[in-house]
Amino acid sequence: MAFSTPMAGLACLRAATRSLAAGGASAYAGCSGSKVVTAAALRRAYASEAAVGGPSFKLTEDQEAYRDLARKFTEEHIIPKAEHHDKTMEYPWEIIKAAHSVGLLNTHIPEQYGGSGLGLMECSLISEELAYGCSGIQTAIEANGLAEAPLIVSGSDHVKSKYLGRMTEEPLVAAYCVTEPGAGSDVANISTRAEKKGDKWVINGSKMWITNGGYANWYFVLAKTDPSQKAGKSMTGFVVDGDSPGITRGKKEINMGQRCSDTRMITFEDVEVPEENVLGKPGDGFRTAMGAFDITRPLVASGAIGVASRAFHEAAKYASERRTMGVPIIQHQAIAFKLADMAMRVEAARNMVWKSCWVKDQGQRNTFYASMAKAMASEAAVSNANDAVQVFGGAGFNTEYPVEKLYRDSKIFMLYEGTSEIQRRIVSKYIEEQYKP
Ligand SMILES: Cc1cc2nc3c(=O)[nH]c(=O)nc-3n(C[C@H](O)[C@H](O)[C@H](O)COP(=O)(O)OP(=O)(O)OC[C@H]3O[C@@H](n4cnc5c(N)ncnc54)[C@H](O)[C@@H]3O)c2cc1C
Repeated sequence: MAFSTPMAGLACLRAATRSLAAGGASAYAGCSGSKVVTAAALRRAYASEAAVGGPSFKLTEDQEAYRDLARKFTEEHIIPKAEHHDKTMEYPWEIIKAAHSVGLLNTHIPEQYGGSGLGLMECSLISEELAYGCSGIQTAIEANGLAEAPLIVSGSDHVKSKYLGRMTEEPLVAAYCVTEPGAGSDVANISTRAEKKGDKWVINGSKMWITNGGYANWYFVLAKTDPSQKAGKSMTGFVVDGDSPGITRGKKEINMGQRCSDTRMITFEDVEVPEENVLGKPGDGFRTAMGAFDITRPLVASGAIGVASRAFHEAAKYASERRTMGVPIIQHQAIAFKLADMAMRVEAARNMVWKSCWVKDQGQRNTFYASMAKAMASEAAVSNANDAVQVFGGAGFNTEYPVEKLYRDSKIFMLYEGTSEIQRRIVSKYIEEQYKP
């Protein structure tokens, strides 16, 4: 496969999808990172345009093309390598580079900074496909989106050009550092401090469970800058270069699933950051860090649907082949109904995710729907993986069969980017607000 002509972001994705639609053998040819930003003539059809005239579940031609490109990429690059990366826990660098070269990395960086500028709906289609192949690899890819989202929400033009632009030029990864050993759900209680000294900010503290932490070129870091204030004003978000003196990258954590995704503690000791790397104004950090979730939770949820639908697919296939008492087990109602439940979960969660994307793509606030989608899709992934193991019987418990990995990989969806309890808290706060007497 040749990656000779420099092409980036939208142009690259466009070329790859066009070639794929034409049945071209080299769907990805000619793509590699560069600064080129394409013309308005290549503007894509957003979900909002597709929806003119009322609700529609029909994807636009472009959306189908992105989904097909991601599906082909998953078949060729992810599925054949998933088992290897799960067993060795090796970071999937080669796959990340390949994803970058075809425009499947950093898909929501705006066009003006060299990205594809896709809507959430398009990103969702891509994330589901990648996670269908391996959600550990998809998480490594998606973590870039999580780190980039605070910059998209609050970054100055300078910060966006410098740090988002860099991501489109070469295959790099970044990380989002909010959680700490003592504060995960309780973001308001973080203890990392940033103090202004002269014309610099100095950061001290430890962040825990940081995805892509060991490989990040830069970090989004949330720190307390005025602890005397309430959460909404006490924190500030910073972009911190990964090679800044004073950063220590801890050991790779060994997790239950998604084992090739890199998770570490990152410690900041007297790390100096220039004023220009503050996102928004000092005190804006909480809003920035939480605002990012409106973009990223629907995409994490899309990853969960990838897992849920893979579990369904593997279970349905196995149930059609495996025979007991003289018939394929799919003919036993107990198994058939399990499959029906699994299919219902996939469809319902996907519809919820698409709605949360659509609302955001309309320019409206989607927090309520993003939390619903995140909780529903995560729980669909966990339930479907659990049911798939049951359908496989003893083979479901064995590493030679596909569903054991799905079972281990699925659980994290209910934990990271806000646990299911925190999503329900957000949804129920909205309800409480609406029903205030
Ligand atoms: C593999 C992995 C990758 C991660 N990647 C990142 C990353 O890249 N960046 C990052 O910043 N963080 C990351 N995290 C952290 C993750 O977001 C947190 O683990 C998560 O938010 C939960 O926080 P906690 O672990 O401190 O649990 P706690 O907050 O201690 O929660 C423990 C339990 O109590 C429940 N609970 C807590 N408060 C409430 C409440 N008010 N109401 C009801 N129930 C409550 C929780 O739902 C949970 O069940 C990652 C974690 C893992 C495991």
